[in-house]
Amino acid sequence: MSSKTAIISVSDKSGLLDLAKGLADVGVRLVASGGTAKAIRNAGIAVDDVSSITNAPEILGGRVKTLHPAVHGGLLARDIESDRKDLADQKIDAIDFCICNLYPFEQAVAKDGVTIDQAVEEVDIGGVTLLRAAAKNHKRVTVLTSPSQYDEFLSELRKGNGSIPERTRELYALKAFEHTATYDTAISNFFRTQYTSPPTDEPHNIALRYGTNPHQKPAAAWKVDGPLPFTVLGGSPGYINLLDTLNAWFLVKEIRAALGIPAAASFKHVSPAGAAVGVPLTEEEKKVYMVEGIAGLDESPLACAYARARGADRVSSFGDIIALSDTVDLPTAKIISREVSDGVIAPSYSPEALQVLTKKKGGKYLVMQMDPAYQPSEYETRTVHGVTLRQKRNDATISPSSSFSSLKTGSSLSEAAERDLTLAALALKYTQSNSVAFARNGGTIGIGAGQQSRIHVTRLAASKADVWWMRFHSKCTSLKFAPGAKRPQKTNAIDLLCSDSVPTSGDERTAFEQAFASPGDVPEPFTAQERKEWLSQLTDVAVVSDAFFPFPDNVFRAAESGTKFIGAPMGSQNDPIVLQAAEEQGITFAELGMRLFVH
Ligand code: 5GP
Repeated sequence: MSSKTAIISVSDKSGLLDLAKGLADVGVRLVASGGTAKAIRNAGIAVDDVSSITNAPEILGGRVKTLHPAVHGGLLARDIESDRKDLADQKIDAIDFCICNLYPFEQAVAKDGVTIDQAVEEVDIGGVTLLRAAAKNHKRVTVLTSPSQYDEFLSELRKGNGSIPERTRELYALKAFEHTATYDTAISNFFRTQYTSPPTDEPHNIALRYGTNPHQKPAAAWKVDGPLPFTVLGGSPGYINLLDTLNAWFLVKEIRAALGIPAAASFKHVSPAGAAVGVPLTEEEKKVYMVEGIAGLDESPLACAYARARGADRVSSFGDIIALSDTVDLPTAKIISREVSDGVIAPSYSPEALQVLTKKKGGKYLVMQMDPAYQPSEYETRTVHGVTLRQKRNDATISPSSSFSSLKTGSSLSEAAERDLTLAALALKYTQSNSVAFARNGGTIGIGAGQQSRIHVTRLAASKADVWWMRFHSKCTSLKFAPGAKRPQKTNAIDLLCSDSVPTSGDERTAFEQAFASPGDVPEPFTAQERKEWLSQLTDVAVVSDAFFPFPDNVFRAAESGTKFIGAPMGSQNDPIVLQAAEEQGITFAELGMRLFVH
């Protein structure tokens, strides 16, 4: 006969009687809290009340039931001389089994009209303490948290004649730690919703109007281990805004660190539409990027960076989230103020720039200030349909000196090529996969994102690069728009022209014609010959892929859009023919030593 003791305190009483009987059958003494003891006793199984070991009654209407040194000393005592002596001195019996599950907090607060006082009463104290103590001491104590464990536990108990194998105790302890963690998360989620409604000055939490879609409510963002790393200076961020601002920020921070030049990104749907560094703009680029007449532009590398990032794919950047690596100055703010955009994140703002930005959208424009020193923790966790996934953050660094040093074809890379490859690779580190980026002259010119097939994403990125280049054709730079034409209207008309999609009839044709100054100014579509000739002049393009090219078709497609440099991981069984294609096309192919998937 064993002289072991079990403490039982369960809210979910299913399976309780079989468990109690199984324990009693191998001679375990049962000690249980009020309701649990009553249920066991009613079934004719011998059980002691907790008060029999604490010599103290349950008090405060059940708030204090098991919180007592006789319980916690019994659970926490190690199998060592000094602990055994302490127990003997205090006349405390060691406890060997702890069976406890907690008040159903989540179900209780899910009821309509639940008050804070009612929720408070559902916060289990003693049960969490029992579990924490027993799990901590799992070297000696077995802890059960769910009726689903009882059958397996009883069969092991019988097999071991009252003892449970070490491995089982370890796994049960892990379950117990997870049980209390889930429970505490449910409690903090409830109080977060109650106590942080917008606007809030609480630095750890932001209540969001809704999640990804308007029907996904409630939604919130918070940080458990410190204040949020940003301050909201204007507007109020939504769920997708935070996904975009935080990802865009880390992209520009990394580009700035890798290339030493101010950087900008224009984000949409958690991928960059454009990313760039502050390479000075030619007059032609200013025209194509629609930044003519911005005072101080030439003197501001940051403004040049944003002009390039926004100019890369103006159609995709409509309503963007902008990230800027450096203090935002007036020229940069002036460019932003003219565009349709949802928000900006940067480490700081000059007073004049801030004044311009906080006035945008009638004061609703999102302006966020990021702590530039902020480093996220090493691990990231998310839940997908209730399943928790955890991984080490992608903290791999990409730099021009180290990331493209292994050349598979060609003999050297110019500084500009290394810069553009680095920029494109960093952009992909923040682009939904599969992804491919084309870059030139310090800016991306076509980013393909989120395609299931590599060749499809290469074609997408390449067609964007083609449209980008067609915008520099004299037919586009000499267009005469209607005096009242808005910037998005001009952008869309240019896109129709450059992507060979000029409408020929109906309302769409009428709208297209209305963008221009007079009927005589409506441009004819490019002929196939014009297009071919102009595209053949695009050159010095750098292309990066977030994973290996499985077939050489990607290389051939890239070559058609002026590609001279490719950076991509190796590892396909077709590597030899992929490299052969690059060689044939006169492309310098640098191995990128890591895969850059984003999901
Ligand atoms: P019973 O039905 O046995 O009266 O209560 C079982 C519940 O009480 C369990 O869910 C357990 O987590 C919880 N519990 C155990 N000890 C204490 C305590 O000292 N205070 C409070 N508030 N709850 C406890």
